[in-house]
Amino acid sequence: MDYAPILQRIAADIQPLIGKGRVADYIPELGKVRATRFGMALVTVTGETHTIGDADERFSIQSISKLFACTLAFQRLGEELWKRVGREPSGNAFNSLVQLEYEQGIPRNPFINAGALVVTDVLCRNLPGADTALVELLRRLSGNDTIAVDERVARSELEHAARNRAMAYFMKSFERLEVPVERIIDVYSRNCAIAMSCTDLARAALFLANGGVVPHSGERILAPSPTKRLSALMLTCGTYDAAGDFVYRVGLPAKSGVGGGIVAVMPGAWAVCVWSPGLDASGNSLVGVQALEWLTTLTGHSIF
Ligand code: GLN
Repeated sequence: MDYAPILQRIAADIQPLIGKGRVADYIPELGKVRATRFGMALVTVTGETHTIGDADERFSIQSISKLFACTLAFQRLGEELWKRVGREPSGNAFNSLVQLEYEQGIPRNPFINAGALVVTDVLCRNLPGADTALVELLRRLSGNDTIAVDERVARSELEHAARNRAMAYFMKSFERLEVPVERIIDVYSRNCAIAMSCTDLARAALFLANGGVVPHSGERILAPSPTKRLSALMLTCGTYDAAGDFVYRVGLPAKSGVGGGIVAVMPGAWAVCVWSPGLDASGNSLVGVQALEWLTTLTGHSIF
């Protein structure tokens, strides 16, 4: 399929929406990003890369880090992971605390903040180099050795982490966390502050479209069955409590972040990342969701 004209058409069609939505400003560093940015990169399992707009501009990956942190934890613990964190959509905002009380400190899924804090606890406990494990994984997956934490965003995250700290201490009160809360908050916040481009992120997610193997290096990240399971979780939980609407409109497993990025995967074929910082009410990129809806409509590719 010729993807280049499709990306051009999408970039033209989303123009009326550019600048709409609200740029995340819970930390000052993210609030500085211009709302008019738009980029998209599609990479195929056969090695093609197609880009448009600001596809090679780095942005804050934020909650997209939860996908790759969960990959590392799933690699380590396998099905044991689900004793610590659930796999159901939350139906609440990504930073909500309410379910934690009813569910005795077991978060609904690994893609909301509470779940990602448990996943980070697993990494700190099980990986000797937990501080740098995610950056190293993302460098290998994307083939880009320059990927790094944006230190200004990291500092800003740490200064505004009261809510995540509250969540972690609450889970600690149910004895659900093994390492000290401050260590978990530190590693989690730095992982959210990793900066990557659409091209980097599409490449990083490509193993999910390729049965768990990174096409360019041949490295196996997950066996086929865990790859399928992680993708299923993205479908049901990857776009916060808007996952139902997202799947209805787009029809692909995906993970979003409040930096305005969304990665999505077409199993057996390609991975895509779109970035535009203006968010909708659920915290997903407004233009990003629309661009992906057009991508699956125009290509006729979706998992359904
Ligand atoms: N750093 C953000 C937080 O912890 C990430 C949230 C997100 O991207 N949804 O709240």
